[in-house]
Amino acid sequence: MLTHRLEDLNRKRENLRGKLKIKEYHADEGITRVIIGEMHNRERHATWPLLEKFKPEPLEGSVIIVPTVDLAGNVYISVVNPKYMKTPAYKVYRSVLECYKPTIVVELHAFNSKAYSNLTDPNRLEKRGVPPLIPYKQEPLIEDQVLHGGPPPFAKNKFKEHGSYITLEIHKNYTEKAEKTLLDVLNIVVKSNSPQKIVNKLTEKYPESMKKAKELLYKYLK
Ligand SMILES: [Zn+2]
Repeated sequence: MLTHRLEDLNRKRENLRGKLKIKEYHADEGITRVIIGEMHNRERHATWPLLEKFKPEPLEGSVIIVPTVDLAGNVYISVVNPKYMKTPAYKVYRSVLECYKPTIVVELHAFNSKAYSNLTDPNRLEKRGVPPLIPYKQEPLIEDQVLHGGPPPFAKNKFKEHGSYITLEIHKNYTEKAEKTLLDVLNIVVKSNSPQKIVNKLTEKYPESMKKAKELLYKYLK
């Protein structure tokens, strides 16, 4: 029975790997981290060049890079909108999580200048049901910034621990500074073998932002 289930799981993974052009990196035994390059809305123009530059070298465990779950590239609904769960992208997303059973998930997004004030709105939790995103560094230019967030509503019950689900937002026309921050964060994720270690390393680098993120996440998850 167990062998059957394993074979079944392996077949499903192989199927997804081909369909989604997934790249896998494996080191020793350890946790699995899934990094999703696009949830919706052609954000790939910003996120794929970044993933190209990213060399995942896990010291332990696995890194699974999923370029997109929006295969047709035509899902325009925000992940915080309950309607996202009715899209084909969400269905693909669910099968990725079911197949790989990650301990850590990272979602990459790209925003435009118009969306910035909504994403960082201090009253976002009351208005949209999710906390505001927090810039890692208070850069004067928003093109220099990378925003940190937790899980979207559909994932919040499964990923309650801070650091187990990270939403990263980068400007569509990001600068070199922003690129460096994003790659630093991804490197911390692939080199740490627990959500706690990720949070510790991020806190060392961005103490103010991570303190705020932790408070917001607590309010959101309680
Ligand atoms: Zn997005």
